[in-house]
Amino acid sequence: MPKRLATFFSCSNCPAFCCTYDQIETTEADIRRLARHFGLTEQVARRRFTKPVEGGALRVLRHRRDEVFGSACRFLDPERRQCTIYDARPRICRSYPGTPRCGFYDFLMSERRSQDDPEHVPSFRRG
Ligand code: SF4
Ligand code: SF4
Repeated sequence: MPKRLATFFSCSNCPAFCCTYDQIETTEADIRRLARHFGLTEQVARRRFTKPVEGGALRVLRHRRDEVFGSACRFLDPERRQCTIYDARPRICRSYPGTPRCGFYDFLMSERRSQDDPEHVPSFRRG
């Protein structure tokens, strides 16, 4: 059985920082999966859920306004801070961060420590 690597981050203790990255890259396979998930044509899914960047060389997930970070992936639940299309999410979301440490999480923990506030940027919006 392959050995599981220890990880030093906890997504359940994070407000989905990585889902606010402005260039969450998609592939044609990701767009096909999104189209199937929503019962749309690939053309409609591509236009509705992604936008071109870098002169059209890449397509990235569209964002919408987010009260915590200003802007976040359109598929992020703004209250629960969780993905609303978990089974249909793009490949890059499945593999991120791909290392035992998550830079976003390290930054968040450092901020919470320096402010002496474990609720600084809460992982779940209350009230
Ligand atoms: S930023 Fe890191 S810890 Fe937070 S949800 Fe993304 S992968 Fe998980
Ligand atoms: S698809 Fe889901 S996991 Fe990927 S960035 Fe959007 S909300 Fe986050």
